[in-house]
Amino acid sequence: MKFVSQLNEFYIPTLEIDNGKIVKNPEIPSRLEKVFKYMKGKFEQLPIKEYPLNYLYLVHPKWYVEHLKKLSENAKDREYLPEVFLKDRILDSGTPFTFFTYKAAINAFYATLTGAEEVLKNRKTVYVLTRPPGHHASSDFAGGYCFFNNAALAAKYIFSIIRERICILDLDFHHGNGTQSIFYEDPNVIYISIHGTPELYFPWISGFEDEVGKGKALGTNFNFPLKGNITWKEYEIVFDKALEIILKFSPSVLIVSLGFDTHQDDPMGYFNLDENSFKYIGEKLKNINIPILFIQEGGYNKNANHSAAIKLFENFGRR
Ligand SMILES: [Zn+2]
Repeated sequence: MKFVSQLNEFYIPTLEIDNGKIVKNPEIPSRLEKVFKYMKGKFEQLPIKEYPLNYLYLVHPKWYVEHLKKLSENAKDREYLPEVFLKDRILDSGTPFTFFTYKAAINAFYATLTGAEEVLKNRKTVYVLTRPPGHHASSDFAGGYCFFNNAALAAKYIFSIIRERICILDLDFHHGNGTQSIFYEDPNVIYISIHGTPELYFPWISGFEDEVGKGKALGTNFNFPLKGNITWKEYEIVFDKALEIILKFSPSVLIVSLGFDTHQDDPMGYFNLDENSFKYIGEKLKNINIPILFIQEGGYNKNANHSAAIKLFENFGRR
């Protein structure tokens, strides 16, 4: 297994509005620094390449990309936090813009495609350790700390080259509303998500069981919403169902939207997975024998992220 890292240390958003109060933004580089140190000591790190923006336009229209660039430029003197929901093509008021947001999101896109290209080249597992995350970004809406949808970009890039079916397994605590919406009518990319139920948790608007895809893609979208406080015992049942779906579709590449906010010590998620749960997740994913592109999403407790990464990736060894 190899890895790519782009933590965008220069990009440090500070504010968000949560339940009407201005609070400290947790989507900061330090949340992943310990994970990076662990990966660097154990696995081969790939240098990041740059890619033409045309690959970005496979998911996001040009006007949206330019709109985000402008919002960043406008935040030169002061971080911009939309106070109204849905204003400025931003879903929520938890996603501020700094002068560096655009640059960071572009860098995450480069890191993601570097990982995707490597998986295609060697058909072996790669981990893209990057931020900002992506799974809440739809083709033309930012939100939930996400601007460009890294997992969707990887899927579209890979499909554009191999023209074979791809599965995305979203393991972040929060439903990947953006990823779901991008592939909702696309039969070539199967989306499967296990998450806290949107009846109780962000992003509220999607992630329900009856969202199953549309048109030719009917039956290719799978949501497993779960109540809070569940442990590995309950999670495993659903995780095994997700694996069965993946095996049934038999994709050439599996993309995993990897959130560590399902860990019991995470401040933003409400499941009770422990270190061993991540070990089992790693074992089960290793055993399905499909090349995996892991892409980092959430995870906001740096120690929990660190121990989850160790337990998950120790299954993949040096390959
Ligand atoms: Zn999350």
